[in-house]
Amino acid sequence: MMDTILANVNQKRLEQAADLLKQGKLVAFPTETVYGLGADATNDEAVASIFEAKGRPQFNPLIAHISDIEWIYDFVEVSPCAKKIAEAFWPAPLTLVMNRTSNCKISLLVSAGLDTVAVRFPRHSVAQQMIRLLGKPVAAPSANISGTVSPTTAEHVFQGLSGRISMILNDGPCAVGVESTVLDVRTDQPVLLRAGGLAVEEIEAKTGVKILFPDKDPELPRSPGQLLSHYAPKLQVRLNVIEPEEGEAFLGFGSVKNATLNLSEKGDLKEAASHLFAYMRLLDKTEYKRIAVSPIPMNDLGLAINDRLKRAAYPH
Ligand code: AMP
Ligand code: MG
Repeated sequence: MMDTILANVNQKRLEQAADLLKQGKLVAFPTETVYGLGADATNDEAVASIFEAKGRPQFNPLIAHISDIEWIYDFVEVSPCAKKIAEAFWPAPLTLVMNRTSNCKISLLVSAGLDTVAVRFPRHSVAQQMIRLLGKPVAAPSANISGTVSPTTAEHVFQGLSGRISMILNDGPCAVGVESTVLDVRTDQPVLLRAGGLAVEEIEAKTGVKILFPDKDPELPRSPGQLLSHYAPKLQVRLNVIEPEEGEAFLGFGSVKNATLNLSEKGDLKEAASHLFAYMRLLDKTEYKRIAVSPIPMNDLGLAINDRLKRAAYPH
């Protein structure tokens, strides 16, 4: 067991975090989606220790986080479509999968054996400052033990990973609350690999690009990391519930009655996304026999929320 520093963010702590990353250590840091578990993405051993700390059963590919759009040209082949979408949205809860360049310095472990690497420029200023101080991309999955609910506060990270990582930078709860949207942008026909914190509708409206869904076309590429059971609380989860049964905790949405907790009484999908993981953790600590969840609409961030709920409900 190592000592884990849990600290509120200030300039000194940011510099300490960047120094630890330079030494190949692991630092958990806030982003607008969820807390990330960061390592220097160009250091193979540091990246390997991410998998060890999380107890990840296999080497799923990781996202490389950057703090300047220009960095991508050093690491990946940027298609016209990738450039258009990156420039329209970054920094944002949006991850773009592109082909590695032949001299790409990002660890092959980040790509988990693929020819591609997933890159994100996060919007959170703490993440940006930390990456800028390191001066290199930071590989980071969510800062939780593999298979458990993603962390949206520094306390969540501490509960799962204290003793396993060097530092946790605390900057309060994450604003978006679900992971990034992942798009394969190798061609001018981008493919949705994971629904997430930036709505597909918004990407299509701003860029005029049509996004393809692998669910609807078996020929399209899929993401290797999308496990059926994931984000799993200990309690079983039952979805699309109108009337909860005796003994069930009721995770409501909109104007439902008798909710144990309500993701958003106003029926606002953004607010619901930001509460999702924290509320699942709270209910998971109770004596209820199961978590019953209201139906969530399948538009905008509802796509990401339903995706996470489906995985949480998968028998495990
Ligand atoms: P996480 O960092 O845990 O939020 O998850 C990262 C996810 O991004 C992975 O589980 C994959 O689904 C996806 N991903 C990362 N890198 C790639 C890649 N090179 N190709 C396809 N999907 C990727
Ligand atoms: Mg994760």
